[in-house]
Amino acid sequence: MFRPRAGVLVMVAVLVAGVGCRGPSSSESARTKPADVDGARIVNADREPGNWMTHGRTYSEQRFSPLKQINQGNVGQLGLAWYYDLDTHRGQEATPLVVDGVMYFTTAWSKVVAVNAATGALLWTYDPKVPPEWGVNACCDVVNRGVAAWKGKLFLGTLDGRLVALDAATGKVIWDKLTIDPNYRYTITGAPRVVKGKVIIGNGGAEMGVRGYVSAYDADTGSMVWRFYTVPGDPSKPFESPILEKAAKTWTGEWWKLGGGGTVWDSIVYDPELDLLYIGVGNGSPWNQRFRSPGGGDNLFLSSIVALKPDTGEYVWHYQETPGEMWDYTAAQQITLADITINGQIRKVLFHAPKNGFFYVLDRTTGTLISAKPCTYVNWATGVDMKTGRPIETGIARYPGDNPAPVVPGPLGAHSWQPMSFSPQTGLVYIPVNDVGFLYKSVARFEPKKLAANWGIDPVAVGMPQDPKIKKAILDSIKGKLVAWDPVQQKQAWAIERPGPWNGGTLATAGNLVFEGTAGGRFEAYRADSGEKIWSFDAQTGVMAGPVAYAVNGEQYLAVEAGWGGVFPLVTGEVAFKSGQVRNVSRMLVFKLGGKAKLPPLPEVEPPKLNPPASTASAATIHKGEAIFQRYCSVCHGDVAVGGGVLPDLRYSDTLASDGWFYVVLGGILQQNGMVSFKKELSHEDAAAIRAYVIFRANQSKGEAENGAGSHH
Ligand code: CA
Repeated sequence: MFRPRAGVLVMVAVLVAGVGCRGPSSSESARTKPADVDGARIVNADREPGNWMTHGRTYSEQRFSPLKQINQGNVGQLGLAWYYDLDTHRGQEATPLVVDGVMYFTTAWSKVVAVNAATGALLWTYDPKVPPEWGVNACCDVVNRGVAAWKGKLFLGTLDGRLVALDAATGKVIWDKLTIDPNYRYTITGAPRVVKGKVIIGNGGAEMGVRGYVSAYDADTGSMVWRFYTVPGDPSKPFESPILEKAAKTWTGEWWKLGGGGTVWDSIVYDPELDLLYIGVGNGSPWNQRFRSPGGGDNLFLSSIVALKPDTGEYVWHYQETPGEMWDYTAAQQITLADITINGQIRKVLFHAPKNGFFYVLDRTTGTLISAKPCTYVNWATGVDMKTGRPIETGIARYPGDNPAPVVPGPLGAHSWQPMSFSPQTGLVYIPVNDVGFLYKSVARFEPKKLAANWGIDPVAVGMPQDPKIKKAILDSIKGKLVAWDPVQQKQAWAIERPGPWNGGTLATAGNLVFEGTAGGRFEAYRADSGEKIWSFDAQTGVMAGPVAYAVNGEQYLAVEAGWGGVFPLVTGEVAFKSGQVRNVSRMLVFKLGGKAKLPPLPEVEPPKLNPPASTASAATIHKGEAIFQRYCSVCHGDVAVGGGVLPDLRYSDTLASDGWFYVVLGGILQQNGMVSFKKELSHEDAAAIRAYVIFRANQSKGEAENGAGSHH
C-alpha cells in the first residue's frame, strides 16, 4: 500500500482547510484513486506484496508471491472466502489484478469485472459487446487473459481487436481503438502490459491467415506510438523496418499472400533494468512450411523471442527456438525474468517453456542461449546444438512421406498459455505440462479458406480412429503433469502426474506453496520444495487460469478464476474427457484461512440421449462430410464430431432429423450464439454431407454405448 509521508498529509490538510470543503485536493485524489499504478510502483512491487498490480505480479512475471500468512503449516485451514458467478460459460483464462483492495478481472467475451477484493461485492462491470459472430475467428475459444492497470485506467484487449481504456473507478470507456484490419481474422485474448506510459498489445490469428505484430499505444490518448511486425510483408513494397528486410531473406515463395503468422498472442515482458521489451512470437500461418515458404528457410521471427526497445519498438536481438516452424510450435508462452547463479556467476536470464517441449535459459541482455533441455518427452528433436542454438531434428519431425507422423508434442504444446511460476526460495519453475502428440500429414494441395482453420495438415488423418484398441492406446498415452523444474541443473526436481493435459497455471508463494487448478475440477496446494500435496478443494469445474495471492487489511487471500474451455475441450473431442469430465461453471473463487463460504451444489443434469435418424447416406457422402467437418467444424464442435463438453455436441442435435440443420449451417439463424452462416464457402450439398457424417458418427457412438464400449455421456 502506498502511504504518503506524514508531512505531505499535513500540507494537504492545510490546503483543504484553506479552500473550504471542496473535497480532496488533486494530489490527494491522485493517491486515493483506484488502480493508481505506475512504473515505480510496479518496479517496487515487493514493497507492497498485498497487491498484484500487473499480469505476472512484477515486471519479471515470476508469479511468486512474497506473502506467507498462508503457508505449508496452515494451508489445511484454507477455505472459500467468497465467490463471484460469471455470466459467461466459455473458457476462463484470466489472471486478476488486485490494487488497493479492488480486484479487476476479465471473463470470456472480453468482459471486465471490478469487485471489492475482501468481500467480492460488485463495484462495476464492463461489456465491450464483441459481436458474437466474431467468435468464429478465434482459434481457441472466446477467452481473455486479463487487464493492465495504469494511473487510474484499466486497459483491455477485446476479441474483436480493440484496445479499450476504462476509468478504473467506474468502468466507463475513456478511449477505444481498433488495433487490427477487420478484413483479417485477428483476435485479442492476451493481457496488455503498460511500460513507461505505453500500452503494449499483440493479437492472435495465425491459424487464420494473418500477419503478426505488436503495437504500443499512448496510455493517455490511445494514439499508436509504434508497431513491430514479426514477419516480413510483401518484399515489392518498402519494409516497415530494416530488420524485416533481413528477415525476408529467411523466407521463400509468396508467404505474404498467406499472412505468415507469428502472432504475439500472450507473452510481453518488460525488463526495467535493461530497458528491454521481450515478446514471444507465435507459429507460422499456415502451419505447414511447404506451403508457407516452399523453399524452406528459418522464417524469422516465427517461434522466437524478440527483444525490442520499448520507446520505439526497434529490434535489439532475437533467439529463434524453432527455425522453419511447422507444428504450431508457438514461442508465445510466458517469459519469466530472473537473476540466478550459474557456475558461480550471477546471470540475468529469462526462462521459457514454449510449446516445443524444451526449457530454455537465455542471457536476457544479449539473447545468447545458456542452456536448453526437454522438460518432458519430445520426439521431434533430440536436443539443442549449443554451438548454433538450433534444435537437432529427428527424421519424423518434418512429417515427410504419405503416412501421418506421430510427433510429440503436438499443437497443444508441451506447455501452452497456462502460466508457470518461479520461486526464488526453491529455485524451481513450476510448469503445467501437456503430454500429447499429433498425427501430422501434409495435405497434397493447400487452399486457404476464410471460414476454416488453415493448417496445411490433413485434418482427417489426425482424427481419432474408432478401432477400440487403437483408441485406447492413444488415450492411454495422453497425460499431463505439474513439473517442478530446476533451471540451473536443467532437470526435473519433482512432478505430479495428472490423468490428462490442460491443467491450470501455477502460483508459487513464500509460504513454500505451489497452487494449481486441475482440468478435473480441483484447486490444489503442494509443498513447493517437495511436491507433497497438502490441500485440495472441489472447484466443481475445470480450472485453467493462473492463481494470485493478495492481502486486504492485513489478511491474505488466494484467488483463481474457474471455468472450463479453451482450445483443448473445443477441438480434441474424446481426448478432452481424459483430463476429467467437468462442466463449465464460471466463477471467481477466493480463499482465506478459516473461510466458510460454500459453493451451491451443482444441479443434476440428465445425460442427453443419442437418438439420431438412421444412417442411410453412401460411404462416399459420409467420407466427404468427414473431410469438411474436420476442416470447418471440428475446431469448435470437436474432433470426429465428439463435443468436448463446452460447445454443442452435434451428435445430439435435433436438427439432424430436420431442415433446421440448413437454417443453422447456411442460414446463420444461431449467429447470436456465435454460429455464423457458412454459405459463402459451403454449398447445400456440402452441408448435407456434413450432416450425413454426423448422423453416421451418432449411430456409431450409440452402438458403442449399447455395447458398453463406454460413451462419455
Ligand atoms: Ca497457433
